Amino acid sequence: MAETRCVSCGAAPLAPILDLGTTPLANALLTKDQVGRPEPRFPLELRFCAACSLVQITEKIPPEQMFREYAYFSSFSDTIVSQAAELAARLVRERSLGADSLVMEVASNDGYLLQHYRKAGVPVLGIEPAVNIAKVANERGIRTRCEFFGRGLADQLRAEGLQADVLHANNVLAHVPDLNGVVAGIARVLAPGGVGVVEVPYLRDLIEKCEFDTIYHEHLCYFSVTALDALFARHDLGLAAVERIAVHGGSLRLFAVAGAARGPSTQKLLDEERAAGMLGHAYYAGFARRVEALRRELLALLKRLKAEGKRVAAYGASAKGSTLLNYFDIGSSMIEYVVDRSTEKQGRYTPGTHLHILPPDRLRSDRPDYLLLLSWNFLEEILAQQAEYRTRGGKFIVPIPEVRVV
Ligand SMILES: [Zn+2]
Repeated sequence: MAETRCVSCGAAPLAPILDLGTTPLANALLTKDQVGRPEPRFPLELRFCAACSLVQITEKIPPEQMFREYAYFSSFSDTIVSQAAELAARLVRERSLGADSLVMEVASNDGYLLQHYRKAGVPVLGIEPAVNIAKVANERGIRTRCEFFGRGLADQLRAEGLQADVLHANNVLAHVPDLNGVVAGIARVLAPGGVGVVEVPYLRDLIEKCEFDTIYHEHLCYFSVTALDALFARHDLGLAAVERIAVHGGSLRLFAVAGAARGPSTQKLLDEERAAGMLGHAYYAGFARRVEALRRELLALLKRLKAEGKRVAAYGASAKGSTLLNYFDIGSSMIEYVVDRSTEKQGRYTPGTHLHILPPDRLRSDRPDYLLLLSWNFLEEILAQQAEYRTRGGKFIVPIPEVRVV
């Protein structure tokens, strides 16, 4: 097998950070008939590029295999919908957008973000590779093309006279095998003076808060500002500003503009990363040990609760939950079932661990003593929704960044 090269800069070799063994695809939920049949598993290993500081996994799964029936609908999260409204209002104001403008979003999902521009009278175009989700968006009146975004589509859109004054790409960059193709596409599709607003989970939060479960096959890359600055500069996009935001356990929001100089906020984060040691492999050395310690602690708690006769279910059939359950080998002997608000997921089974996914209503009739919170990135939202469960004495086990019961 050829040596694995960095997906951004092409350098090799890549230094190991964490080996998660082999796991099934995190979003490959099973139907009842599929449970018990052989499930494909793939190696999952995190590595570091010393040349450009990009952290990445080495196993590449064809995107067609992963995105065809991607079951994550943005509108099912209250937090994401309310933050989308604020962000759209801010950009309409700051960029003076109107009926002559065009806002695009790559991986636009069901139109959760673009709907706010549309309401403000700004024309929109969504680009969404999942067939079922693009269909829902179009039915809701959000003009959406069902395609993968890259250089080719960007050139095609330009040729049709479609250029973006604002282009959003939220949680896209980590997912794409052709990283340079997508950033080149952003550069080509922006109108003169246009801005690319790009959100990615922040590597610094992942490492410092032990968010190892955000590592799964769909997430190919884990970004520092240092790695992003090099990637965007390669395509003549400057990071005019970078903000740290709370979404998904800690993320970055980049404002990329053709030919722009690094803004003060960008330079500040670059300096902080250098000072923290993130440009060297040593920074990542303790991470695997901390993940192991977390595993021991969580398993000990679940075993103790079992011994005490407590009943434990889980909340959130999320992709990150799949990594946590599979890597920690937590299955139906410890967890009875998992509840999730997404009607797309209900009735199916979690990959590898085969927990039955039920609607949250089940908690009212069934009353398990504890819920392992697999969607810990929506902790506050879920605690608010489950106030009744908690009032009656139900408790949540929050696994990340450290094991605690609330
Ligand atoms: Zn590299």
